Amino acid sequence: MANKLLSIIVPCYSEEEALPAFWEEITKVTDLMSNIDFEFIFIDDGSKDNTKLILRDMAKADSRVRYVSFSRNFGKEAAMYAGLKYSKGDYVAIMDADLQDPPALLPEMLKAIEEEGYDSVATRRVTRKGEPKIRSWFARRFYQVMRMMCKTEVVDGARDYRLMKRRMVDSILEMGEYNRFFKGILGWVGFNTKWIEFENVERVKGETKWSFWKLFKYSLEGITAFTTAPLALASIIGLLFCIISFLAIIFVIVRQLIWGGSAYGWPSMICIILMLSGIQLFTIGIVGQYLAKTYLEVKKRPIYIVGETEEDL
Ligand code: UDP
Ligand code: MG
Repeated sequence: MANKLLSIIVPCYSEEEALPAFWEEITKVTDLMSNIDFEFIFIDDGSKDNTKLILRDMAKADSRVRYVSFSRNFGKEAAMYAGLKYSKGDYVAIMDADLQDPPALLPEMLKAIEEEGYDSVATRRVTRKGEPKIRSWFARRFYQVMRMMCKTEVVDGARDYRLMKRRMVDSILEMGEYNRFFKGILGWVGFNTKWIEFENVERVKGETKWSFWKLFKYSLEGITAFTTAPLALASIIGLLFCIISFLAIIFVIVRQLIWGGSAYGWPSMICIILMLSGIQLFTIGIVGQYLAKTYLEVKKRPIYIVGETEEDL
């Protein structure tokens, strides 16, 4: 029987410094795994450095290497989607180019799928060592909020480093939404997943491609894509204020009937007006967020645009 094929997908955004180290490390691991064939799919996400040239050379030197180069930067979500789409393997792994997802875990992950009967193996880092404190703090809060509001499970510290069976990959590809949030999508499609934990590893070379602002916007994407709970906020607060105002009306009437002279207190009135209009604007903003996402979704724009692949060489 022919060997099974394992596709390794690597999203790269300006990773010219990390790529050589990555290639050395990954081939060290894959060379030892003899009873399976490999295919490496690098996604050049509109890099601003020489990543594309390096990938061209790698594809020329090794026929197992394929690459897809985007016409501009479309983000890691789009890169992972493209990788899954291009992959042909019976098993598919997604891995960062900076060696923060240790390739050494691959044999163990493969074993869980082939021998222990799992559909997918996910990894999660148990520490966030080496990451700015404030960033970890916001990340933790984000996962807390997601857990509170979403029915689909999103695991704290989960990495995008995964090994999956073909069937799972196909079901992910079926979710063709424009606003993609991979961690949510994975929880949504289900399947039997084994979790492997490891200590945070710091990036080998280069710098993180995720600014704080980019991460913040991405987290809003995750929330709007996987829960509509914030939309209920306006109704809940509205109802609450109706009840309060009803009680207040009764209070004012009773006070007028017994003591008279209710016409005072405009500073408190201004405060109430300010607060209520603040809440109204805030909730309209939330509705706006969902409207904007729906607008982008309805346009049905492509998730990525290919500039070049190894077939053009
Ligand atoms: N990445 C990408 N497109 C982007 C940003 C990042 O393909 O717009 C890739 C990047 O090259 C790396 C992976 O996503 O392989 C994770 O990015 P990074 O290591 O910068 O993020 P961090 O590990 O700091 O969260
Ligand atoms: Mg990284």
